[in-house]
Amino acid sequence: MKHCPKCSRDLDESMFCSNRSKKDGRNDYCKDCVKEYRSKFKDKLNEYCRNYQAKRANDFEYIIKNRWASILQRCVNSKYSQGKTASKNFQQASYLKQNILLEMTYDEFTDWMFSQKELFDEISEFTKAVVSRIDPTKNYSVDNLEIISREDSFEKRWGTPCNPMTEEQKADKKIINSNRYKKSQGDEK
Ligand SMILES: [Zn+2]
Repeated sequence: MKHCPKCSRDLDESMFCSNRSKKDGRNDYCKDCVKEYRSKFKDKLNEYCRNYQAKRANDFEYIIKNRWASILQRCVNSKYSQGKTASKNFQQASYLKQNILLEMTYDEFTDWMFSQKELFDEISEFTKAVVSRIDPTKNYSVDNLEIISREDSFEKRWGTPCNPMTEEQKADKKIINSNRYKKSQGDEK
């Protein structure tokens, strides 16, 4: 018999998992207690993850980091795609062909985002707020940024309202996506 200090029961040794690091070769706590502890821990961990994600979604600094990352991505993509995407009458192709440069620091961007927070929150209440360049032919700088709705951003880029996409736009989007995929796979010579 072995005593479990957690549930204060005296149990057969088979009720304790073997553990070589222990003197008697068995866990201190019985199988039931270990099982209970594990399931409680799991619940706690899940709860923590949920809370963390919920907090993140409303965390403005997280949003700033997120938008900054997508701007960086865009600058990298534009350099990478330069001269490679050829599709007639396709605005996004020329958009990708531009050599978009980053002309601001992360701190400058952060300050600018905080100056726009009220507008950002206002737009976020009904749709996704997007950081967009006022003049899409110019680079990313705090003087050339604006916060607009996802729908307005779409219309600005495509020249048509968000829904529905034309067949041509859908086809072009497919080409871009498959090109991106190829690049990410390193197939393109
Ligand atoms: Zn126990």
